Amino acid sequence: MLEGLMTTLKSMFEKPVTIQYPEQKRPVRARFKGRHVLKRYENGLEKCIGCALCAAACPADAIFVESAENTDEERYSPGERYASTYEINMLRCIFCGFCEDACPTEAIVLGDNYELSFTSRAESIYTKDMLLEPVPPGGQPTPQRTPAGVFTRSVPEMKDPTD
Ligand code: SF4
Ligand code: SF4
Repeated sequence: MLEGLMTTLKSMFEKPVTIQYPEQKRPVRARFKGRHVLKRYENGLEKCIGCALCAAACPADAIFVESAENTDEERYSPGERYASTYEINMLRCIFCGFCEDACPTEAIVLGDNYELSFTSRAESIYTKDMLLEPVPPGGQPTPQRTPAGVFTRSVPEMKDPTD
């Protein structure tokens, strides 16, 4: 009994381990898979080219992609097409990361945001506007007017294909 009481006494002076969420947030692990983010290039163009490979790879059928044609007057992404609609149903998503692995342009990334509360089925559909990251400093919002013949490649050239 004395041994037990000593344990209680000792723990009274230890630092509490409780995290005061939401004021205080615990940092996530390096490989944590949280809410998806649609990435942009430094100039603000969207990395997503609307190819729907992520939707094909998704085992939960959670992604819906519709694509449209880019023009040099109204360009959203490099190459021919961009995602005019991009939606993820968060009620279906199992956060496996297959979409991230399948993407040829590294456009869809599972980030570190884990605050995904919603109160209706409609709110569980995350749209492109919700997923697209903000324009980086020095970049331009999309659509952009771009010079002809510059952004012809949908997938960026790899410096070292063995990477
Ligand atoms: S993380 Fe997995 S389940 Fe969720 S959208 Fe991506 S592929 Fe589908
Ligand atoms: S996120 Fe990647 S895989 Fe999905 S449609 Fe866009 S470019 Fe294709």
